[in-house]
Amino acid sequence: MRERIEKALRKSDAEYTEIRIESVSTSSAHFRGEELDNIGSSKTLGGIVRTLVKGGWGYATFNDLSNLEIRVKEACESAKLVGKGESKLAEVEPVVDEITATLEKDFRNVSLSEKKSVIEEYNEIILHYDDKIETSTVGYNDSFRKVWYGNSEGTYIEDERPDVGVMLSATAREGDNVQRGFESVAGGAGFQIIEGLQEKAVAAARRAVDLLSAAPVTGGQYTVIINPKLSGVFAHEAFGHLSESDFVYENERMKELMVLGKRIGSDMVNIIDDGNILGLRGTHKYDDEGVKTRKNYLIKDGILAGRLHSRETAAKMGEEPTGNARAISYKHQPIVRMTNTYIDKGNAGFQDMIKDVNLGLYAIDMVGGQTSMEMFTFSAAYGYMIREGEIAELVRDVVLTGNVFETLMHIDMVGDTVEFPPAGGGCGKGGQAPLPVGFGGPCVRIQNVVVGGR
Ligand SMILES: [Zn+2]
Repeated sequence: MRERIEKALRKSDAEYTEIRIESVSTSSAHFRGEELDNIGSSKTLGGIVRTLVKGGWGYATFNDLSNLEIRVKEACESAKLVGKGESKLAEVEPVVDEITATLEKDFRNVSLSEKKSVIEEYNEIILHYDDKIETSTVGYNDSFRKVWYGNSEGTYIEDERPDVGVMLSATAREGDNVQRGFESVAGGAGFQIIEGLQEKAVAAARRAVDLLSAAPVTGGQYTVIINPKLSGVFAHEAFGHLSESDFVYENERMKELMVLGKRIGSDMVNIIDDGNILGLRGTHKYDDEGVKTRKNYLIKDGILAGRLHSRETAAKMGEEPTGNARAISYKHQPIVRMTNTYIDKGNAGFQDMIKDVNLGLYAIDMVGGQTSMEMFTFSAAYGYMIREGEIAELVRDVVLTGNVFETLMHIDMVGDTVEFPPAGGGCGKGGQAPLPVGFGGPCVRIQNVVVGGR
């Protein structure tokens, strides 16, 4: 393959050319209630040529590898049509590397019927947990991507990217009151990570049933403690997307708000994006421009310390490339994306965080949310009231709203243990979803959070 890619690259008369070829095998199975909704597997092979001429990008995607040179020519022609300025790409050292996935139990060797029977058991556990369980959604997905990447600067990388996950959702009903419990597990370590999840299935069902008798939270301003999963989602959704340089570069208002060196959080706030953490879903040695991923501080001690770049945004903004150009498949160009985003640990124990809270809220996990510039609205999966320094009753309909910059300033305690929940799903941007990402954090305490409720 290397010879083929390099031979085609030599046909290019563009300033920069890269070829990314991928073979992807996937399989999936989904239950909805007692019904097996769908089950199947697929294999695809395809690639993309990307060329740069006078600041303009040209692309050609293909499924047939036999005419690579012609695809390179086509991409060159289209780049010439759009290029009218100056090409800017941050410099990186060319690398030659091969990354082989290590799967403890390779899901490619597990039959579709075994995959089905593993999730069928979880589905049965949910459906038979309680009479109040109305229905379930249980899904299995795996994908194994092999990527061959080469560019005109001499970089050549072969990379294997496995991902496997299960999602478990339970719906309980009592009259008009409908509640859901949700759990998911995903990662790249192998099939074994989705085995033995009976307790997660029980937890999803139990939560749906328990929430039927929980009261909606009373709206107001509270001291809120968010759990590791919610703090990770907050780091990614509310703040991380604002750190993506294509977004900053194209947005005058964000350029004013996101000035490096500016204080934007209390001094215990550290937010990091790191594509190198072993075993997480956003972990890759190189991004889709062949740039090594690394640990990037976005906020260090409350100060805006960095942002995420492709080679182009790094050059345009005069900063270093960070290894954050990612594409969801060969049908797409790489764009600036997060890898694994988290809030770093502080030094507070959980009991220290709640002991002086007279009336507060402990918000757990996330089931949905929206962001618009610096404003966010997150629906926590559930919560517990904190009363006189102790965890009290379960509450539902926990919706947190706010301005991310004010919220970062209102963080007054950060927990001493970072967790990376092995959750499924993924990130969406520019029509590319769901991109596997990791997120995490410790418990984080925030003052004066607006909590919606009834
Ligand atoms: Zn996202």
